[in-house]
Amino acid sequence: MPNIVVVGGGLAGSEASWQLAKRGFSVDLYEMRPFVESAAHSTAQLAEVVCSNSFGGESEESAAGILKAELALGGSLILDCAHISRVPAGGALAVDRDKFAELVSAHIESNPNIRVIRTEVMDIPSAPCVIATGPLSSTAMTKALRARVGDYLSFFDAVAPIVTRESINMEKAYIAGRYGRGNDYINCPMNKEEYLAFYECLAGAERVVPHSFERGMRFSEDSYFEGCMPIEEMASRGLDTLRFGPMKPVGLPDPRTGREPYAAAQLRADNREGTLFNLVGFQTGLKWGAQERLLKTIPALENADIARFGVMHRNIYVNAPEALDEHLRLKKLLSESGESVFLAGQITGVEGYMESTAMGLVAGLNAACLLSGAPLPVWPPESAIGSLLRYLNDNTAKSFQPMNTNLGIFPPLGQKVKNKKLKAKMFYDRSLSASKAFWESM
Ligand SMILES: Cc1cc2nc3c(=O)[nH]c(=O)nc-3n(C[C@H](O)[C@H](O)[C@H](O)COP(=O)(O)OP(=O)(O)OC[C@H]3O[C@@H](n4cnc5c(N)ncnc54)[C@H](O)[C@@H]3O)c2cc1C
Repeated sequence: MPNIVVVGGGLAGSEASWQLAKRGFSVDLYEMRPFVESAAHSTAQLAEVVCSNSFGGESEESAAGILKAELALGGSLILDCAHISRVPAGGALAVDRDKFAELVSAHIESNPNIRVIRTEVMDIPSAPCVIATGPLSSTAMTKALRARVGDYLSFFDAVAPIVTRESINMEKAYIAGRYGRGNDYINCPMNKEEYLAFYECLAGAERVVPHSFERGMRFSEDSYFEGCMPIEEMASRGLDTLRFGPMKPVGLPDPRTGREPYAAAQLRADNREGTLFNLVGFQTGLKWGAQERLLKTIPALENADIARFGVMHRNIYVNAPEALDEHLRLKKLLSESGESVFLAGQITGVEGYMESTAMGLVAGLNAACLLSGAPLPVWPPESAIGSLLRYLNDNTAKSFQPMNTNLGIFPPLGQKVKNKKLKAKMFYDRSLSASKAFWESM
């Protein structure tokens, strides 16, 4: 009998199994490929990287770099294999995807504490267990999760860009709720000329081509996506569609002129600290470069720092603040039967290769602590991993959307630092010193 079952041999499941195995626990790791295929994977290797071969930046001046430094402190197998199989990519950590997946597979398959079982798991196994079946979880596992979390399971990402609060030019924007109701929105007013420039940029903007398995599942054809029409789609219906939709200026007089603008882009707080703001109704599948250009045409956002780009894609994930406790366990099962079912990877509500890996490391370590009767770890809030966990637990956000690591979700530094590089380095130093103390205490 294994000590624990891990379902899904992707980035997170491999990392979680490794973390458990190196602490002496025996793991049965279930992977459905090659007998059952996913819509995006094409090999039988563990930790197959399905799209870009880049794991993001490594610099100390970025959240992605801080996250990698923390994964290194935690002895991440995925990060180690990425370093060994890296290919030149400037400041980013990019990998030879075949070599990378072969290395991870070899380490996992030769580990005496891990048995890899190639079969699809149709239901949640006996607890404790780790579910890391990813954004393209099999239909059976998706149904099993749905039965446990109900409406808190999402199937599609329709995300609007998110920008940092401090990069919004408040000399042009103003705070107001529609018809004077509350003060929850930052409004970016546009005159006719500005709106036409914005519209022209949007009309010519390049879109991401959907994967074949996403075609035919978009927008009104699928009830999950109703009300999530991307702005580029709305714009294609007519020049004024957006002015009667998310950019409606009615009830939003500019306090400087006393008049309603021609159009207005609205932003709403996206996190508890109010450091991140999302563009309301601006869900989009435009290419990232096109999103950057588009935002620059909006008065007050000409220098906006985009913390997270908009996306429209197939993605199975839980509404983490409702579905998970702070240790990534399914709340419902925990409260009903005391069972610890840990989720790991992208399915927890994070976004990205390294973020998914990090949630594999956390779930693996948590499960190891549970098995050894130790208290479950509390991650330092200043760290990249702690910030992601806090985001997953933040039930104050109006609607939960998956998040990648970015400095906007870290707790503020408590002082204004204008120099961006210096500021990022301060985040790095603070995170790393807290993380080192954390690992020493473990
Ligand atoms: C099409 C697509 C493209 C993406 N591109 C990028 C990108 O370019 N950059 C980026 O940073 N992130 C990207 N992501 C997001 C995310 O980082 C990756 O999907 C990442 O691989 C998630 O890691 P994971 O371990 O959670 O899931 P995965 O790596 O997908 O691993 C899940 C594993 O579980 C297996 N599985 C599923 N169901 C079962 C079951 N019932 N029983 C047994 N095994 C099962 C699957 O076969 C798979 O091996 C992309 C996501 C998708 C869907």
